[in-house]
Amino acid sequence: MNSVPLLTITRRILTFFRLTSYPVWIGLSLLLVLLLLVPQLKTTATQVPLTVTEQAYLSAHPVLSVCVDPDWLPFEGIDSHQKHVGIIADLLSLMASKVGLKIQLHPTKNWEESLMASKSGQCLALSALNQTPEREQWLIFTEPLLEDPNVLITRDDHPFISDIASLTHKTIALPRGTAMAELFARDFPHLTIVYTDSETQAMQMVSDGKVDLTLRSLIIAAHTIKNAGWYNLKVSGQVPGYGNQFRIGISQSEQTLRTILNHGIAALSEQERQQIMDRYLNLKVVSEVVTDYTLAYGLGILLLAVIGTSLFWMRRLSALNQQLSVTAQTDALTQLTNRHGLNLTLEKDLERAQRYQHPLSIIMMDIDHFKRVNDQYGHLTGDKVLVQCSQILKDNLRKSDIICRWGGEEFLVLCFETSQEQASHLAELLLEKVRQHYFTEVGRVTMSAGVAQAMPQDNAETLTKRADTVLYKAKHQGRDRVCVGQDNLDSMADILNTFAKTDN
Ligand code: GH3
Ligand code: MG
Ligand code: MG
Repeated sequence: MNSVPLLTITRRILTFFRLTSYPVWIGLSLLLVLLLLVPQLKTTATQVPLTVTEQAYLSAHPVLSVCVDPDWLPFEGIDSHQKHVGIIADLLSLMASKVGLKIQLHPTKNWEESLMASKSGQCLALSALNQTPEREQWLIFTEPLLEDPNVLITRDDHPFISDIASLTHKTIALPRGTAMAELFARDFPHLTIVYTDSETQAMQMVSDGKVDLTLRSLIIAAHTIKNAGWYNLKVSGQVPGYGNQFRIGISQSEQTLRTILNHGIAALSEQERQQIMDRYLNLKVVSEVVTDYTLAYGLGILLLAVIGTSLFWMRRLSALNQQLSVTAQTDALTQLTNRHGLNLTLEKDLERAQRYQHPLSIIMMDIDHFKRVNDQYGHLTGDKVLVQCSQILKDNLRKSDIICRWGGEEFLVLCFETSQEQASHLAELLLEKVRQHYFTEVGRVTMSAGVAQAMPQDNAETLTKRADTVLYKAKHQGRDRVCVGQDNLDSMADILNTFAKTDN
């Protein structure tokens, strides 16, 4: 994920706070408190559509017994009424209500007991845990129910850390034996690691000025900074890729249950997640401000939690947008770039090639008599031929070429630094590879191709149109062949002339 826009935004927020005067800062914080205190509209749980198999499973198993960590707040815990509480409890129960499942807590005294109960089948699921190879021996895992990034904690006079790799001569306190201590020693050798016995000790060392920074889960940091009263600490940055992904662990036999829970997790909206996080990380701070602490301190912590959680959700949102953008540019059947994806880049690539006078060619390809394949063997077999064709083309292209599914049974190959003649050879090779392939059920399949090289006056439309016209010519001349744009040949001399003039 590209985190640059996120870091820029965060840097601007921090600069804004540095430059504005104290009363403005307090005023803005008050505004934030008011916004957070406005009663949230209760979101009605949306019912998730389930398959017949999933519905049958739920009718047979309407209740899911869950083991949890009884002492891990604010993530989760078991209260004095034997009730599952915390962020994970709320996420779990909201998710379950969306798929029509009832959660039943199997109480235990500690996490080890929960693991034992899960292994012996006394509970079907463990509420939230990181996926590890050891746990995979008896569990299967859902998509993440909760993602919690690790953040860098410093004293409040430390500047914002946009990139941990840029820190030199800094000391970082990390609890020994943890996965993060191991990863940091390997990945950031320029930092001096001071090992501690616990996370609390690490935080204390930062607070006392004995080390520069430590690393902590964002959620735990927001919670413990508040509880322990470490008001000289703040979140100074994050380390993308070093976070926790808490998933529901399920007994290995329950594959259908996993798909049901995944539906429920996917149905949790960002707003619902945010409301649950706020319940445990922001609103509690406000109540303590009123009773225990000075207004300034409380608002400072609140602001910290708001910035921290915003960082978290902005990052998540950005990842989802990225995923969405990739999906929108990918053809679902062949997994090749689709026409929309190619259009996003073609015009720019063409302009660049023209500006720097680099040759650029395209090959438009079409499967011959493909309608007959569908008519004779059915659409599904037709689909398989399309997928195999895509694979053959992809396997025989150079790394720098881009292939896209242009339409039904048409493909377009974009060849950089390639003259029409070279592209024509490549097209011959591709056609030969398809010709030689034995397609299951169907046997032999051939393709036709039209090649065109970009000319100085071309735009994406005229270039693809020319390739399309020569492809049509190839079809007309009997198919299973490559044709080259005549216009190109006629204009070769012009091109060379134009380039020669510009060189002068
Ligand atoms: P030509 O050699 O002239 O290209 O003949 P053709 O039969 O390949 O061309 P025509 O345009 O007549 O038919 C193309 C066929 O491709 C018709 C359409 O149903 C089929 N087609 C398009 N997209 C898909 C797809 O995603 N899956 C399958 N199975 N068929 C598809
Ligand atoms: Mg065709
Ligand atoms: Mg066609």
